[in-house]
Amino acid sequence: MEDVAIIGSGCAGMGAAIYAARAGMSPLVIEGAQAGGLLTTTSDVENFPGFPEAVNGFDLVWKMRQQALKFGAHIESAVVESVDFSSDPKILRLESGGKIEAKKVIIATGSSPRMTGAKGEKELYGGRGVSACATCDGAFYRGEDVAVIGGGDSACEEALFLTRFCSGVKLVHRRDQLRATQIMQQRVLTNEKIQPVWDSVLEEVLADESGRCRAILVKNLKTGGVSEIPCKCVFVAIGHTPNTKAFAGAVELDSEGYIKVRDEIKTSVEGVYAAGDCADKKYRQAITAAASGCKAAIAAANNF
Ligand code: NAP
Repeated sequence: MEDVAIIGSGCAGMGAAIYAARAGMSPLVIEGAQAGGLLTTTSDVENFPGFPEAVNGFDLVWKMRQQALKFGAHIESAVVESVDFSSDPKILRLESGGKIEAKKVIIATGSSPRMTGAKGEKELYGGRGVSACATCDGAFYRGEDVAVIGGGDSACEEALFLTRFCSGVKLVHRRDQLRATQIMQQRVLTNEKIQPVWDSVLEEVLADESGRCRAILVKNLKTGGVSEIPCKCVFVAIGHTPNTKAFAGAVELDSEGYIKVRDEIKTSVEGVYAAGDCADKKYRQAITAAASGCKAAIAAANNF
């Protein structure tokens, strides 16, 4: 039986693993479907303290992982499918059919990109011209026109990243003002390769005869007019949904599926903690995720 099982291997999971390992708990990290979490799909992280020259997202989280391993964390490549927190020890059932028992559990499963649900989006997702990750797929569209959907920091970051490869980037946003932080807004709005398409939403992704994106249809919400924008790929960056399906019914979730916490990291079940984006719809930063992982581990180690 494990002293503490940490579900998730992003910033929150690794922050928890480093602190739990140093507290002598020999934590087991169940790394989940995306080893290293969402940060591995980010290019330059410019706001993580300690890296004035920026740090690559993958490198940052991989260093956290090495740090956790160095202090005695164990990492298992598995995905938790369901849990039973009513028993003692707590039981984690894996997709592979296995089972893990743990005295304490830290949930750090993060969140996944949200999609618009527009026609053609699902069909062309994954290599055929619809993506949720410019860092992963942007280089395939060198010299091409592309589109980004969204108006937050993620959308701006994606758009700016894409200007490195692509000839033009249409930034399609449902309002006429970006939600992103001032610095990102300024970079986007002064970049001559990026053209905002205001007050507009994605209606459909149009495929060519080979089944790849050739254009998108966008609807202007003010005029109701629909226009076609030629592009080889559309990058959807409209926020995230918490990865908490496995915990429904086991811990309290809010109406959007985020884990409800009190004292920052305690779930509705004693001995079960939540850290990072699965419980945080407000801050959602690498630094806040790592910090909440640290808090969860300290609480688990000290029976707070
Ligand atoms: P976000 O801030 O929630 O922005 C989501 C954007 O998508 C908003 O502009 C929203 O429009 C739009 N949107 C939502 N649902 C939509 C739909 N169904 N159809 C069309 N548009 C839709 O999400 P995010 O950009 O992923 O950022 C999440 C958090 O991570 C934020 O706290 C952000 O600061 C942080 N972050 C930071 C950095 C950085 O510092 N470098 C990078 C990325 C993310 P409205 O504006 O109209 O609501």
